[in-house]
Amino acid sequence: MKAHGRYLKGLEPGKDNKKEQSIMYRIGVDIGGTNIALGILDEGWELLAQKSVPFQRGGEIVAAIIAQQIRAMLAETGIAESMLECIGIAVPGSITPDGQLVLDAYNLGFHNEPLKERIQAHFPGIPVALGNDADAAVLAELHKGALQGCKTAALYTLGTGIGGGFILNGKMFRGGRGNGIEPGHGVLVDGGEACTCGVKGCIEAYCSATALIREARKAMAVRPDSLLYKKTQGDPVAMTAKVAIDCAKAGDPTAMAVFQAYVGHLGSAIASIMNLLDMEVVAIGGGVSGAGEFLFEPLRRDVDTKCFFQNHGDVVPAQMGNAAGMVGAAMFYQNQQ
Ligand SMILES: [Zn+2]
Repeated sequence: MKAHGRYLKGLEPGKDNKKEQSIMYRIGVDIGGTNIALGILDEGWELLAQKSVPFQRGGEIVAAIIAQQIRAMLAETGIAESMLECIGIAVPGSITPDGQLVLDAYNLGFHNEPLKERIQAHFPGIPVALGNDADAAVLAELHKGALQGCKTAALYTLGTGIGGGFILNGKMFRGGRGNGIEPGHGVLVDGGEACTCGVKGCIEAYCSATALIREARKAMAVRPDSLLYKKTQGDPVAMTAKVAIDCAKAGDPTAMAVFQAYVGHLGSAIASIMNLLDMEVVAIGGGVSGAGEFLFEPLRRDVDTKCFFQNHGDVVPAQMGNAAGMVGAAMFYQNQQ
């Protein structure tokens, strides 16, 4: 992400910006359970200014905060409201197929929340588009990140759970019936570990950061001589994905065994999707992908051994990081046209 000054070149508060009126800007908003991140993007999807403010409960309050922060960003950058092409809002939850309501976003306490209408009321003349944060991340990677130029590709975000999505025929695939897709909830191990969705053995139950932490805790409990144990003083609460990865990197045999099993499960999930859809690129994001080549090198080898085709697509790190939701939200409106 390029660094930007406080003001756009040639666009300063109080200056006559009329000759710049043909340029259009987009707003992206990523609502999380802790913070609301907002950004202004130009026509090339470059982030010109951004803000992060604490999340507060209640649809009306959230809409008011967003409106206030958007207007503050416009004032700071000297961009007129009339130069906004659209406002996109990403939420961690499900959206009705018509894009009007947040059906359920448990972290936000939103259920059948008419968020689009509430934000639209603050900006009557500007199109507002509502979407899921995983979809936003996929769009951001497609237009600005690791999936640029791809017709058939996937993003998996390995965090507390597994988010992600597919690009098919150059467009985001929203499922056949408008439900969206859940790439983390394909079953990998029949009757395996319990998944958050209620089914046993899902990809998420083996390939999320949560799964890596669970396995590291189990391993350390039976190996008090391990580095995993030493680093956490045997306290399961102190175990994180980073501790598990760092111990594996340091050569701790217990941690290495945990990490190898994790890579094996992730490799199986990716090879399956390569075989099903012949993906050009599968991008991996989220906290665990921060392990870098320590993850990607053995992962590519594992995928190689499991793919049906020798000349399968690439497995690469996602590029958009924490900005993915905000940047992708700004793309919702164009994507819906
Ligand atoms: Zn599941």
